[in-house]
Amino acid sequence: MIQEITVLSGKGGTGKTSLVGSFAVLAKDKIMVDCDVDAADLHLILNPEIEEANDFFGLNEYFINRDVCIECGKCEELCCFEAIKDFEIDVISCEGCGICYLACPASAIETRKKKCGEWYISETKYGPLVHAKLGIAQENSGKLVMEVRKAAKEMAQKENISLVITDGPPGIGCPVIASLSGTSLVLVVTEPTVSGIHDMERVLDLCSHFNVKVLVCINKFDLNLEKTGEIEKICRKRNVKIAGKITYDYIFTEALIKSLPVVEFSDGETSRRIKSLWENLYNELNR
Ligand code: SF4
Ligand code: SF4
Repeated sequence: MIQEITVLSGKGGTGKTSLVGSFAVLAKDKIMVDCDVDAADLHLILNPEIEEANDFFGLNEYFINRDVCIECGKCEELCCFEAIKDFEIDVISCEGCGICYLACPASAIETRKKKCGEWYISETKYGPLVHAKLGIAQENSGKLVMEVRKAAKEMAQKENISLVITDGPPGIGCPVIASLSGTSLVLVVTEPTVSGIHDMERVLDLCSHFNVKVLVCINKFDLNLEKTGEIEKICRKRNVKIAGKITYDYIFTEALIKSLPVVEFSDGETSRRIKSLWENLYNELNR
């Protein structure tokens, strides 16, 4: 059976990816996945060598063939997104609903696949990494997340690997839902701030809605012990375990500058705390 740990945070910048980078060192026999496709940065720590690159196609792109168009104006009239003007489709405004394509009496509207990004299978010093890059201003990151996860699961099956560790996207939108459905365990990384608590609660609500087992890690807990206490209280009330508390430490930035996972860069207090966090996660996964 393949198990999947997904690491989430209510927003970006909580140190989530740095922790996932360290899990890549600590976990044995696993596949790493970067599902933060809008702002992928796990590769900056894991330094992958791309072995396979694949195109990602989002929604179809529609355009009007002016040689066939009889200029009846029906498409412009029907488009709810005001994407058609003077018998031209504005690709930025077009939402790809296909109404114009279906309604055109002259079959003058044509469609083609639109490349929105790429996804890769790579090798790193710590094992395989499946990751992706969404094109600038491209949407459909939820669909790309699904594709990346599917590729990782297929690879795990083929190579008899039983663990997938996923760096999830921030927030609670469609890509997050796409990355947590069907996962075995979620780790929510939060910080002791007002917005950190608010964002954590939103992710916890989402996990509870999808009935996913969840643990919390408080990063930079020592920056505000009062707010840390608040997080602990909320978690107790929700019956959510705190898997670890990580101190505020410049080592995160220093390791990032060297393109190294924190636990490989240093063996100090912070690395010890990350190792203990990983052990708690792993034990919870196998309970
Ligand atoms: S509905 Fe078809 S024929 Fe009519 S204006 Fe639009 S593209 Fe041209
Ligand atoms: S596909 Fe939909 S959104 Fe795009 S131009 Fe046609 S009707 Fe408008």
